[in-house]
Amino acid sequence: MMKISQRALSLTTSPIRRLGPYAVEAEKAGKKIYHLNIGQPDIETPPQFMEAIRSFNKKTVAYGPSQGDMHLIHQIQKYYKEWGMEYSEKNIFITSGGSEALELAALTLCDPGDEILVFEPFYANYNSFAKIAGAHVRAVPTSAETGYRLPDQETVEKYITNKTRLILLTNPGNPTGVVYNKKEMDMIAAVVKKHGLALIADEVYREFVYDGAYTSFGTYDDLADNLIIVDSVSKRYSACGARIGCLLCKNDDFTTQINKFCQARLCVPTVEQVGAAALYDTPKSYLEAVNQEYKKRRDTIAAGLAAIPGVISSDPKGAFYVMVKLPVDDAEKFAIWLLKDFDENGETVMIAPGNGFYAEPGKGVDEARLAYVLNCDDLKKAIHLLGEGLKAYPGRKI
Ligand SMILES: *Cc1c(COP(=O)(O)O)cnc(C)c1O
Repeated sequence: MMKISQRALSLTTSPIRRLGPYAVEAEKAGKKIYHLNIGQPDIETPPQFMEAIRSFNKKTVAYGPSQGDMHLIHQIQKYYKEWGMEYSEKNIFITSGGSEALELAALTLCDPGDEILVFEPFYANYNSFAKIAGAHVRAVPTSAETGYRLPDQETVEKYITNKTRLILLTNPGNPTGVVYNKKEMDMIAAVVKKHGLALIADEVYREFVYDGAYTSFGTYDDLADNLIIVDSVSKRYSACGARIGCLLCKNDDFTTQINKFCQARLCVPTVEQVGAAALYDTPKSYLEAVNQEYKKRRDTIAAGLAAIPGVISSDPKGAFYVMVKLPVDDAEKFAIWLLKDFDENGETVMIAPGNGFYAEPGKGVDEARLAYVLNCDDLKKAIHLLGEGLKAYPGRKI
């Protein structure tokens, strides 16, 4: 018999992927499913990526430096400079997606029993990254009724204990679509400084902001010693399968230590880094066009949701998600029912139950996350189907 670690046993399977088998069954039965459940953008990866990979002409696919390919690091440095942030070479580490950056940062900062402060609902994988490091998340609640905005400093500080090591947040937010305003960011910065915490700012959706300008935590000069930025090409350039992300930090103690984790995994894929470096040469017009497209989708989904009675929705301002409170007994049961028992002319819609975005069982039971990664026509159909499903669902409230 093999003994399995407590660490492995403590991890949970992805709540979003749990509905997969029901989708397979629905498709077998001939239903067309509109997928609002996953954040896989339908936008094409810029051709620069494939072109760079096709012209890769080394005779050997060799190991690269553990920190990352220097050309890619320079490209990222240039990109940050355009955003008004100065990072030197030694402050940038290439990782296998933003996911590995998050995992290595948690491993570098946390000992068993330590706590990571998050704002719930939050990106479900944060639970796993915390547990891998032996830490656990402590969640400050935000609610549908207040648009998932952050509470005040005093409330946040109630969740800080002598075990709290860091605050981990996504901005723009997944799953809420919330973009923090200056007051919220100043509050976070004040808490971090006052309690001597690290701040991991997951900013993989930086370009996906639809109402006005975006401010990165990297522009807070007095956070230089506390801040770790997590970034990725996955969402920016619709290159999720490339698995290239990065971590930026100006704290030398931190970078000295994380470098050891990077050395242990030797390097990230050599060829994909060549492709990723080329992505940073994509003309700005690409990012602007993608932003405009998502803004249209955001407007479409927000208008569609506002017209469905009983639905409370966040005011989505960024990323490509909206969190909703539905007039149902249980959003997971409703999501399964949509796949198993509902269709209109052979079509149905798939949503991500909200409970997976909360730390504790029993929370977010009547909530769901919708990803607006479909074109506007499909999105309208999907929201129409959601509305019809809500009318017909036996577990409907009111
Ligand atoms: C997609 C995503 C990531 C990282 O994805 P990678 O593909 O590993 O770069 C990190 N955080 C959030 C909130 C995400 O939605």
